[in-house]
Parts: sequence; C-alpha cells; structure tokens
Amino acid sequence: MPEMNYVSTRGEGGSLPFADAMMAGLATDGGLFVPDRWPSMTADDIAGLAGLSYVDTATAVCRRFIGPDIDDHALRRLVTAAYAGFDHPAVVPLVQLDDRHFLLELFHGPTLAFKDVALQLLGQLFERSMRGRDGRLTIVGATSGDTGAAAIHALAGREGVDLFMLHPRGRVSEVQRRQMTSAMAPNIHNIAIEGTFDDAQAIVKQILRDPAAAARLRLGAVNSINWARLMAQIVYYFHAAVRLGAPGRKIAFSVPTGNFGDVFAGYVAARMGLPIDRLIVATNANDIVHRGLTTGRYAPDTVVPTDTPAMDIQVSSNFERLLFDLSKRDGRRIAAMMADFETRRSLWIPEEWRAWAAQRFTSFRIEAEEMRDTMQWAAHHCGQLLDPHSAVGLAAARRLRHRPEVPIITLATAHPAKFPEIVEQATGIAPQLPARWADLLDREERFDVLPNDSAAIWSFICDRANA
Ligand SMILES: *Cc1c(COP(=O)(O)O)cnc(C)c1O
Repeated sequence: MPEMNYVSTRGEGGSLPFADAMMAGLATDGGLFVPDRWPSMTADDIAGLAGLSYVDTATAVCRRFIGPDIDDHALRRLVTAAYAGFDHPAVVPLVQLDDRHFLLELFHGPTLAFKDVALQLLGQLFERSMRGRDGRLTIVGATSGDTGAAAIHALAGREGVDLFMLHPRGRVSEVQRRQMTSAMAPNIHNIAIEGTFDDAQAIVKQILRDPAAAARLRLGAVNSINWARLMAQIVYYFHAAVRLGAPGRKIAFSVPTGNFGDVFAGYVAARMGLPIDRLIVATNANDIVHRGLTTGRYAPDTVVPTDTPAMDIQVSSNFERLLFDLSKRDGRRIAAMMADFETRRSLWIPEEWRAWAAQRFTSFRIEAEEMRDTMQWAAHHCGQLLDPHSAVGLAAARRLRHRPEVPIITLATAHPAKFPEIVEQATGIAPQLPARWADLLDREERFDVLPNDSAAIWSFICDRANA
C-alpha cells in the first residue's frame, strides 16, 4: 500500500499522514490539506467498480487516500458502520427523471442531507484515530445548517471527542436548527452567533490557526476544509457514473454549490481518471464562484439570504484547493494570493488558469423563480419532490444545452422535508418528514447565543471543553 501524505495549499504546512491531516483540519500556515498527488484510477480500475455495493465502492476509493495505518479490513468495517444508519438499501439511490436527467439522492442519512455521507464516515474515523492517543479532541465547526446537524449526529456520544458548532442565529431553517439543538449528548455544544455563516466560518478559521489556542486544546475541524470529508464525497461520483456506463461513457454532474466542497470532490474524481464531461456549478444569488469562474475576478459580495441557506456563502473555502491545483501546486504563490485576498477582499484568477478550469466547469446562477419552476417541473412531470438546493442544481443542469447525448446527474443534496414551506409553496405538496424525525417539532432544544466575537466564543469553548 503506497504512502499518501498531505500538504498545505499554502506550501508551509509540512507533510502529514492521513490521520494527522484529518484531525488537524486546517494546516498551520492557514492553508487546506490536499494529497501530495492525485491517486489514479485507470479505466480498468473504474470498470472494476461495476456492480459493487456502495460500501465496497467507498472502501476501494478511500483506500487510495488512506495510508497503511488503517488496513483494508479495518477500513471496510468503518465504512460499513458509517453507512449502516442510512434508510435506503442503496445508500445513495440514482433516480431517472427523463431521457437526460438523473438525480443522485444523497439525503437518506440520519439528518436528511448529503453532509451525512461524509460526516458519518468522519465520526468513525475520528473515534478510531483518538483511540490510543492521550486527551480529547475538541472540534470547532461553523454551519449554514446542514453540516452542523450532520456533525452532531455523527459525533454525539462518541469517545474522546467534544463538538462546538456555531450557526448564524435565525438564518437556518427550523428543521435544521432543531436537528442540531435537540441533541442532548454532553459532548455536543450548540452556539448561535449574532452574525452570518461567513462570520461564523471566519471565527472558526481564526481559532483553528491560532497557536495559543492549539497550545491549550487539541483542536479539529469538521467543515469541508477537512480533507476526509471531500474524500468521502469523491466516492459517489464514481459510484453513480459507473452505474450509467463509465468508463465507457462520459457523464456530467450538476452540483448545488456553497463552500465548493462537493463540486471539488467531483473535480478530484475527474483528476483521478473518471471521465466526467462537465461539472456544473449551480449557485444561487450568492454567486462568487460563478463570477470568479466566468470573469476571473473572485470577490465576495454581502451575503443575500435566500431559500437555499446552505448556499448563502460568499467565501467558498474550497476554492483555494482549486486555485492550488490550477497553479500546478505552487504553494508559495497561493499563500501570496490568499494573503492579498485577505487584505483586499478580491483576487484575480490568471487567464490561463481560468481557461483551463472553464474546460471542466460550467457555472450558472439560478434565481428564486427558476428554482421554483424547476421544483414544479420535477413534481408534475417526474413525480419527484425536490428540496430547494437540489432544485437549483437541476435548474442549472437543464440550462446545459451542449452534447445532449451526455447524461447529467444532479446531486440531490437535501430531503424536501427539510424545507417544507418552500416546497409546498412551489408545488402544492407538503413533504413528510421520514419516521425517524416525526416528533422533531416536539423535542426539547438546547443552545447558547453568543456575539459575533471570536474572543467570547473561544472563552466559552475553553470553559466547557475542560469540563
Ligand atoms: C452544504 C450544502 C450544499 C453546498 O455544498 P458545498 O460543499 O458547501 O458546496 C448544498 N446543498 C445542501 C443541502 C447543503 O447542505
């Protein structure tokens, strides 16, 4: 089994094995971890995935990113445990909508959003990695809604791990909030901050890169800055494409995008050898990535709250991983670009990089009306209820006109019952929560409200993490 080490996108973070990169989350130079090379899957390797279960596909793909400290048998056991809590036997069923469009349903996990696919595995990996190490791991995360719930349900009651989850107060849906705040395990701490998701994410990054904080607690991250999450997401691109005929046939994917983690996982699958014709980046009105890819100027605007809150993001952390790859892994250059970005709040993507990226990505900004029309179309022509995020993805997929023979798989990122009012307004149909959440609105809630201030949040964490 070849060694696989992880390096920082900013060039100065050293080189760490998988488990250390996973536990650290962010590199010490403020960069994000990436594998030191893209592992390759040949056409024969990909053909060999045909007919495999999701667990077997995940074991085969993750194997290429994890070094020898987790052997095949242990990895398979962790993956099996991670997906045992999904309530569909296919784990991620692929549904056909019409002669071109397919939906990959990623929302059959414990909290009804695709975040479960990665976080259930991360929960297993964290617990295993903490075994045999001293002390506890303190995980600090920020959520626009779904990551928080998924992380909480992946880590509640796990040995050796405490979780502090920040969400922007009043900017997550009621179902999302209650899925987080009704978790009563003593190792789970919910914090509602008086600010936006970007504020919450900035605080988390500041804490994670502060050497004084690291000296006090062993800190970790569960946001999609954590490489292990992207690894888990690469799996379903392979699994779904193979079901539609890869490697013999090219497939396109449409991905509702916020922090650029999910679509970047698709990019990695393509870099590994999966014949992906196109990755469609679907954004809402918060379209920094769309503007960056089309104009070359990557600059955040103020966040506009929309019906797709998981995509209300103006600084997409994982975009740095793409820039690093586009730079041909020039960490020094990325460090300089990001330092510049942090002071000026904008950066220019060199034209040569942008042109190369444009051969792989197509992006669309989808407004609320088109999102609603798409929900109606899917409900009335295909009998399929979509959540608003998935509808943004499908709307973007339906805008792609080139090469009509290429099938397009839209990633369905949340269950429609997570956003019941919007779904009902658009389609006239009230989506039902699956049985496991039927009593959600009656459950007790527990959370603290804190100001948008990293010092206040850090002192809250220190008080509780040692308790
Ligand atoms: C997190 C999330 C997204 C965005 O995914 P990124 O990896 O942040 O781009 C889209 N839809 C839903 C429902 C989500 O929870």
